[in-house]
Amino acid sequence: MGRIYLDNAASTRIYDEVAGEMFALAKEYYGNPSSSHAEGAKSAELIKKARRIIAECLNCDEGEVFFTSGGTESDNWALYALSASPCAQGKREVAVSAIEHAAVLRAAEKYYDSVNTIKCSPDGRVAAADVLRALTPGTAAVSVMYANNVTGAIQPVEEISALCREKGIAFHTDAVQAVGHIPIDLSKTKVDMLSASAHKFHGPKGAGLLYVRGGKASPFIVGGTQQNGMRAGTQDCIASFGTALALRKSVKELSSAASRVAELREFAERGLMRIEGAHVICAGVERLPGILQICFENAQGPSLASLLDMAGIAVSSGNACRGDHNEPSRALTAMGVPPEIAKGELRISLSAFNTREEVAYAVDLITRAVAKIRQIAK
Ligand code: PLP
Repeated sequence: MGRIYLDNAASTRIYDEVAGEMFALAKEYYGNPSSSHAEGAKSAELIKKARRIIAECLNCDEGEVFFTSGGTESDNWALYALSASPCAQGKREVAVSAIEHAAVLRAAEKYYDSVNTIKCSPDGRVAAADVLRALTPGTAAVSVMYANNVTGAIQPVEEISALCREKGIAFHTDAVQAVGHIPIDLSKTKVDMLSASAHKFHGPKGAGLLYVRGGKASPFIVGGTQQNGMRAGTQDCIASFGTALALRKSVKELSSAASRVAELREFAERGLMRIEGAHVICAGVERLPGILQICFENAQGPSLASLLDMAGIAVSSGNACRGDHNEPSRALTAMGVPPEIAKGELRISLSAFNTREEVAYAVDLITRAVAKIRQIAK
């Protein structure tokens, strides 16, 4: 068997048809979308089409979709824009959950005077009641992710967004892991801003989007008047269109892909739970179909991931954006998972490209790798 890729929460393989279409379009759509000549207008039309497709997928208005360089930029923009918004009325505090991605946490620290942490329950979920507890008279904005990148736990975003609306506080959600993987209907939520990233749903890397309710926010990247003056810089019409194509395919195939992927995850889970001292994280909680976070007692997650890489299997221990790989994931610490268990963490993240044979093979190799690591540590 060739290499087995089980790290789809870090990044996904681009759909063949999206890569093919992008390659073909790149040769033809070279005009600057801001130019007034025919070549420019042609590129601008492609972006318009991309925006229309995305708006349909998320059930929002075309004018509320802005293209960015990915999830990190979208998160930074959202946190910055909400701090600068007239709705903030000079308030300088933000409330973010304890399990946010570094892009949200660092942006919160950078753009606000004070960051209030919303606690995460031991089951991996952020309760609306805990959001309420973290609010102060100085809170300008709240940010809680749609689904966690380490555990896969889906957060009660509809409820939290409604609570924030009721309190008159702006709400952002980092939906980088959720978009394209679970149904999202923005018309049913009170979300003010939402971040997404194309490479997490089989689209191109370095491309993403920010949904902005009402289509108006302070620009984060300034310069030209592109994207309605909201995000300066020559637009990459090919990446925007690739993002739209990948999202359309992911959304269209969502229900069949999600049940197939969830079945693979359960198959992996059953196999790995036969290992003594294995703990599935967020086992009884509604999770993204593809993420399985499992900890092995008396094993070091990063060593396990390296051993598996050498054996031909790509998984991760913690998340790819963290430098301090020897520390347990923040999400596990926030949930109160004891360090001696958390340090043996492994994240297996599946996609519809994976097969049952691959998973069976991986379970076998992981079982042997855990035994080997434990043997070495003795
Ligand atoms: N937010 C979450 C939850 C993520 O998982 C990631 C990437 O892993 C990001 C933000 C950053 O997205 P990007 O890689 O597109 O910058």
